Amino acid sequence: MSIDSLTALVRTIADFPKPGIQFRDITTLLADGAGFRELVDHMARIVEPLDPDLVVGVEARGFILAAALAHALGKGFVPVRKAGKLPGRTVGIDYVLEYGADRLELHEGQVPRGARVLLVDDLIATGGTAQAAAQLLREQGANVLMAIFAIDLPDLGGRLALEADGVATAAIMA
Ligand code: IMP
Repeated sequence: MSIDSLTALVRTIADFPKPGIQFRDITTLLADGAGFRELVDHMARIVEPLDPDLVVGVEARGFILAAALAHALGKGFVPVRKAGKLPGRTVGIDYVLEYGADRLELHEGQVPRGARVLLVDDLIATGGTAQAAAQLLREQGANVLMAIFAIDLPDLGGRLALEADGVATAAIMA
């Protein structure tokens, strides 16, 4: 399946979650068995040579792709969640959004010092979420090998911002 065919499986929903936003919805791609497999295969081909120790996914859609990738690579999966969702002791990072602030958390000790990790999310827009997740992982002493996304919105400059932070990036669709 070509990248164009894969991209055609993603739908755009106008004015979600608020007026003026064109939301890229990957649930239509995920619901297509061949498309879902192809997307994960594309991502796996890029990250396999990096041989990460762990695959870290960002809540919530990042979990879906990170878990599939972790399974494909035979590696462990670790969730990064919004504040207050993880049951155990956490470490976290506060970060600023366009409107307001947010916090990402990780179970303490789940990413060992020196771990070689892959960061996964469904989409990168401004890069603020991925930058915060990468910083949190680095604060644990992890080596963030790459941040990979199903979709990049290049006009928003997120990948450039991450690369400026020294994080290699990849995306399957734009
Ligand atoms: P950023 O922090 O501006 O790069 O936004 C990326 C985060 O917001 C990711 O966790 C995405 O899941 C989510 N996000 C932003 N825009 C969209 C969209 O159009 N579709 C799906 N998720 C989005």
